[in-house]
Amino acid sequence: MSTRAQQYDATVRAGEQLTPHLVRLTLDVPGFVSTGISDEWVGLVVPGQFQSRYYTVRSFADGRMVLDVVVHEVGLVTEWASGGSGEVVGQQVVLTEAKGSFLPPDQARWLLLVGDLTALPAMARIAAEHGDRLPVRIHAEVPADSRIEGYFPPSATVTWLPLGDESRLAEVVEEIDWPEGDGYFWMAGESAQMRAIRKHLMRERRLPSTHYDVMGYWRSVAKRQPRAVDPGPIWRAGKAAGKSDEEIWADYDAAREAQG
Ligand SMILES: Cc1cc2nc3c(=O)[nH]c(=O)nc-3n(C[C@H](O)[C@H](O)[C@H](O)COP(=O)(O)OP(=O)(O)OC[C@H]3O[C@@H](n4cnc5c(N)ncnc54)[C@H](O)[C@@H]3O)c2cc1C
Repeated sequence: MSTRAQQYDATVRAGEQLTPHLVRLTLDVPGFVSTGISDEWVGLVVPGQFQSRYYTVRSFADGRMVLDVVVHEVGLVTEWASGGSGEVVGQQVVLTEAKGSFLPPDQARWLLLVGDLTALPAMARIAAEHGDRLPVRIHAEVPADSRIEGYFPPSATVTWLPLGDESRLAEVVEEIDWPEGDGYFWMAGESAQMRAIRKHLMRERRLPSTHYDVMGYWRSVAKRQPRAVDPGPIWRAGKAAGKSDEEIWADYDAAREAQG
């Protein structure tokens, strides 16, 4: 028996330009089932397209979902979302079922979150949902015009990092002053930076894989990606094989690497 992944028809109710690089979309998504995992994401298929791109569920309540979408130079969703709120409001999109991977161990006494602009929604939701129990430190690397006042809950300790020509998050993490004791490290951003950090965490810091989650959210390539690698089958195969989230994300990076 084959099982079809759940999909949702959604309608864009509002579009708001938070910064020149970030557009907030509010969608009506009848019947959406959240995983309840703080970094959960959905695939978004915009009108006229069949490929999906992945976006974090910034929030979901009363049938309304908020996605914060980075608009960069060129891209399938970027070009659609850059059309401005006037164009996207009222449009129908399709969302795939939600998945999440944030899973701190029970003994975690702190959360350390590091990411670029694409990781802001997940870091903000993690901080909002866990900040009352655990101290949360955030390092966010964003363009100077995208340091959004009030984006993170006031309880979080936030360091805004400048973004130059390219991300240097790997260097930042290698120099980071780590909190004492057991905690959980979560990081997302450009894939090459994430690969470097995985090596650092395994070889230098010797962190058990249950104590961190590092995800390549996008890949810096010179031209438009011809085809996105769907993390769904990789995720399911990895879970079926009993792999950790970390191992599954490494498989996902390798598949994207192999795609060229
Ligand atoms: C689990 C997960 C959660 C994610 N959550 C979010 C989220 O909440 N918000 C968000 O904005 N993104 C998020 N992303 C990243 C997003 O899916 C990618 O950035 C995606 O490629 C954007 O699609 P696009 O159609 O705009 O560009 P594409 O058509 O995919 O790519 C076109 C070109 O743009 C480049 N590119 C892609 N993304 C970026 C970028 N961010 N900055 C600069 N260049 C880029 C590519 O290298 C390519 O050359 C998430 C990704 C994953 C895997």
